[in-house]
Amino acid sequence: MSELNELYQEVILDHNKNPRNFREIENANKQADGNNPLCGDKLKVFATLEDDVVTDVAFVGSGCAISKASASMMTQVLKGKTKQEAETLFDEFHRMVTGELDIETDENTLGKLRIFAGVLEFPARVKCASLSWHTINAALHDEEEVSTE
Ligand code: ZN
Repeated sequence: MSELNELYQEVILDHNKNPRNFREIENANKQADGNNPLCGDKLKVFATLEDDVVTDVAFVGSGCAISKASASMMTQVLKGKTKQEAETLFDEFHRMVTGELDIETDENTLGKLRIFAGVLEFPARVKCASLSWHTINAALHDEEEVSTE
């Protein structure tokens, strides 16, 4: 686990300093606001869904390093995925950070998102890591807001 932890630190720092897809999408047909009052993380997530494929996804907002890094990596991973694949990833990610899914033994499609398993050691950060995922999930289901509380 320590290798994964080191990678976790590195990736969080990198994405926090230089978040990917950190912008608004003017013609997004899906968007939602996410709020994690426990930490003060506020994100707005945008997605363009065409024929059930996420052709563009981006976010803006402010929050702690983990919430930002998680949102940044999420946008990278979701681009080009179908709505169904996105929902599967949301489900797997959520189960991973809450300890229900063991990335070593349970089959999953998480790929590089596996590094967020590191958040398990910091229970207060689970909502930070999953905020962007709850928010994109809300957006894809035409809900405008989500709060982790
Ligand atoms: Zn946070």
